[in-house]
Amino acid sequence: MGHAPNLLVIGAGLTGLSASMQLRRKGQPHRLLEASASAGGLARTVTEAGYSFDCTGHLLHLRNPQMAELIRELLGDENLLQIERRSAVYSHGAFTPYPFQANVYGLPKELAFRCLSDFVSAHFQQPKPEIVTFEDYCIAHFGRAMSEAFMVPYNEKVWGVHPRELAATWCERFVPRPTLEEVLRGAVGLPNPAIGYNARFVYPRRGMGMLVDALLERANPVELVTPVSAIDLERRTLRAGNNEVPFDQLLSTMSLSSLFRQLTPLPAEVQQAASELRAVDLHYLDVALNTPVELPYHWVYVPEPEIPFYRVGAYSTFSRLMAPTAKASLYVELASKTAPALGQVLPAVADALTQMGIIRGRDAIRFARLRRIPNAYVLYDSRRERALSVLHAFLSEHRIHSVGRYGAWEYSSMEDALWAGQCAAQTLLTEGSS
Ligand SMILES: Cc1cc2nc3c(=O)[nH]c(=O)nc-3n(C[C@H](O)[C@H](O)[C@H](O)COP(=O)(O)OP(=O)(O)OC[C@H]3O[C@@H](n4cnc5c(N)ncnc54)[C@H](O)[C@@H]3O)c2cc1C
Repeated sequence: MGHAPNLLVIGAGLTGLSASMQLRRKGQPHRLLEASASAGGLARTVTEAGYSFDCTGHLLHLRNPQMAELIRELLGDENLLQIERRSAVYSHGAFTPYPFQANVYGLPKELAFRCLSDFVSAHFQQPKPEIVTFEDYCIAHFGRAMSEAFMVPYNEKVWGVHPRELAATWCERFVPRPTLEEVLRGAVGLPNPAIGYNARFVYPRRGMGMLVDALLERANPVELVTPVSAIDLERRTLRAGNNEVPFDQLLSTMSLSSLFRQLTPLPAEVQQAASELRAVDLHYLDVALNTPVELPYHWVYVPEPEIPFYRVGAYSTFSRLMAPTAKASLYVELASKTAPALGQVLPAVADALTQMGIIRGRDAIRFARLRRIPNAYVLYDSRRERALSVLHAFLSEHRIHSVGRYGAWEYSSMEDALWAGQCAAQTLLTEGSS
């Protein structure tokens, strides 16, 4: 190998690809190292027998005009479907339009009344209660009955811990807070304007992998199957696959917890802070149907504890190119935080999908694959912020940049990943020239 470039980007997910594209545009040499056999990270799309699957529902909710423009430039308007959300909550045997808190009219009457009455009490409560945990947030803003009927059981299935163990900080952007008027309208079945960050979304015709492919054309070539390990802070070298490589500048998008497992030497308090980072894995199913889906929704939220998944959606309702004609490709996000056996979980999933009216019976399933996203959801617990401040201070002392959803250890979107990659590239360029 010739002279080793001194700027390394670790991970070719959206953050790493976006950073590499930006560095390349500015003529900055660098290497882009990826542990797995394909690029894209969580934005990958896989295709089997004509059915395409993203890594569960991946939809573009664009808030940043610069990123919206970038995505148009990368994919072209003709490849971007503009879609209005059709989603529902399946609870107490009924479908209510999402968000639950603004549409209680479909629930059994006694429950709908309690939801409404507790919402109104919470709305007018004075003085306002202190909000520390996510459970406090739900009870303060939606009242106890809605929290117990939807917010708490649903989020317990997603996060694998009770909302009282989570801080309220992550949810302002993602948990819609309807007004009193919207709740009242929804309680008597009047339509509301679309509510929430995901009311409209953009979807590439052939799945999110199209975005990855467009970035790959503009980024540096990805060195696949090249996991980075053993990062020596004193010598400023690391292992990339089987080689030892020196570095001056480092941009990491692997998870912060993995990064700290690779760094040496580490002071005890930094090791302690790294051990405090908590996240849960997500196990989900790619499901190929012989039939179309029978329901008019893109996806459905399922708080019911006895159903083994918390959300089910159909890629083929986002774009018909995601499945063969008159068939469907689904994602089913399982509540279990430990790896289930496909042979055991699939019959239960098929029966629940049948009960919900999404399929007519187990025979509708042509094939299913069990997938895992390690550390899918970072837990915003009471120790996260303090641990992050210790870890980021340590990284900045050693001039290492750790960004992206898992590099920053946060709950964030694909748009945020593209933006984080661009900003990090800019920082590296400035740092390199000073
Ligand atoms: C279940 C789920 C649903 C989501 N839905 C949406 C959605 O609808 N809309 C939305 O905008 N966002 C969504 N997101 C968030 C979105 O997926 C992420 O924000 C984004 O894809 C993160 O990109 P990234 O590059 O930061 O991380 P990643 O995609 O995780 O990429 C990191 C890359 O680093 C590689 N890597 C790891 N370790 C090493 C190593 N040691 N050496 C070399 N390479 C390494 C990995 O293989 C991977 O390719 C969702 C996330 C999840 C988990």
